[in-house]
Amino acid sequence: MINKGDDRIMLPAVELYKALNKAQQQKLFDELQLAYDKLPKSTCKNCARCCSIGSPPAFFIEYINMYRYVRDHLKDRWQDFLSKSAEYFYLELVDVNQKCPFLGDDKRCDIYEVRPATCRFFGLLSKQEFEKGNLNQGLQYVAKKLWEDHQIKIPDEIANSKIEYCGDVSNSTGKPVPKKELGIIIGELAKLDAYFFPEQLVDQEGTMLPYPVHLMNTVLGDGARARKLKIMKEYADHQSRELLDPIVARAAKYEF
Ligand code: SF4
Ligand code: SF4
Repeated sequence: MINKGDDRIMLPAVELYKALNKAQQQKLFDELQLAYDKLPKSTCKNCARCCSIGSPPAFFIEYINMYRYVRDHLKDRWQDFLSKSAEYFYLELVDVNQKCPFLGDDKRCDIYEVRPATCRFFGLLSKQEFEKGNLNQGLQYVAKKLWEDHQIKIPDEIANSKIEYCGDVSNSTGKPVPKKELGIIIGELAKLDAYFFPEQLVDQEGTMLPYPVHLMNTVLGDGARARKLKIMKEYADHQSRELLDPIVARAAKYEF
């Protein structure tokens, strides 16, 4: 799944450890888990097709929950997640080989316990409900604007990509989950983000970013993030990584 536009990366900076403390003190991670627990248990064929398209958007509370999980349980994978996420942050729209940075070589999610709600929801809706909301106009619009404003060519494979419905998910209720039930869970997660950001921003889904983009908002300085368009163009025009590689190397050195 692909980030629908560069305008969504301007989340105001929040000091991460203050946010983690606040979430712990106010038991927000418990509330997050209670919201997740409302979903039926599900299984699928683990083909990884849905994770190979990109990284889906996640609420800020989910991001800091993931950060905490990696810090406490997957420290040895940290550098790998950082470098893959830095690449993803810059190349998501110009490199057809980008996939979710948390997809393991064994086609399993490396952070399954803390995957975001958008991943948990996949395959739970009926085909009809899923296809109602699965339009690709956002991505085509981004591709058009990047070309018109910056002469950055988004490959057609990305601009026209669309995640297909998956009929290989079965859940413990034995029937599709109504969209309104997923909407209730989304509302609960949005309320948790309102502990950190203005409600208006949360209501506009402004706190929903893919995990690698949230992570780069923490790890990269303003200067490195501001070079995104330049790095995208360099890669789109010449497949060159001259500007990108030093930034990825620096990002991989970030410590908890
Ligand atoms: S949800 Fe479907 S597409 Fe995704 S990994 Fe499972 S079987 Fe594959
Ligand atoms: S977070 Fe996990 S489940 Fe979600 S897209 Fe990435 S690898 Fe797949």
